[in-house]
Amino acid sequence: MDAIISGVHLVSTRSVNSYVIDGDQGVTLVDTLLPKNEDTIANALAAIGRSLADVTAVAVTHAHADHVGSAASVKAASGAVVYAPIGDAATVRGEQEPPLPPMVDRLPFLKPIMRSFLPVADPVAVEHEIGEHVGGALPADLRVIDTPGHTPGHVSFLLEREGGLLFVGDAAVARNGVVKRGYMNRAEPTFDASLRHIAEFDFEAAVFGHAAPLQSGASAAFNRFVESMR
Ligand SMILES: [Zn+2]
Repeated sequence: MDAIISGVHLVSTRSVNSYVIDGDQGVTLVDTLLPKNEDTIANALAAIGRSLADVTAVAVTHAHADHVGSAASVKAASGAVVYAPIGDAATVRGEQEPPLPPMVDRLPFLKPIMRSFLPVADPVAVEHEIGEHVGGALPADLRVIDTPGHTPGHVSFLLEREGGLLFVGDAAVARNGVVKRGYMNRAEPTFDASLRHIAEFDFEAAVFGHAAPLQSGASAAFNRFVESMR
C-alpha cells in the first residue's frame, strides 16, 4: 500500500475508497467501505504490519452504506470508538433510514427502486457525534469541516500534516486534477456553500470517496472550482 502522505494509506474496492491513518496511538480509519468489506480493510492493514485489532478509532464522513458499511464489523473486531457527524448519527445508529443521494429529491418515483438496490449497513454505536463546533478532540488530530449537502450531516476531515490533507468524502470528486461536483450532487445552496467553505482552507493534498487522490495543489483546485460556480 503506497502512502498518500506519511502514515496515511488508501484502502479501496472498485467502487469506493476509505483511508488508514497509522499513528503512535493506533490506527484511525476514515470511512469503512461497503458492508462485508472488513477483510479488504484487514488485508490493507496487514500490508503495513497492522491488524483490525489495532484500529482504535473509526471516523465516518457520512451515513451512506459505502462509507459506514463495515464500521460495525470493524468495531466488533477492534473495540474502536466511532465518530460520526451529528447530522447523520441517527442513521449510523440505525435509528433512521439512510438519506438517498441528493439528486433523487427531484425524482421521487425512483426512491423505492433506489432503496431496494442500495446496500444497507449494519447499525453501529456512535460514541462521539461530531461537527465543526461540537464533539471535542478527534483521533489523529483530525479537524472537522462541516460540508452538508451530499447528506444532511456530511463532514470532511483536515489532517494538518505535510501541508495539509483533506478527506473530502463525497462532498466533491476530482478528475485529472480538476475538482467536480460529484456524481450524485447538484447545484443547490447548502451544497455549494460547503464547497466554498472547503476552499477557505489550505491543504496540499485531497482524497475522495470516489476519485483518485489529488496529491498537490488541492486547495487551489477547489478554489478554481468555486470561482467557476459564480
Ligand atoms: Zn455518499
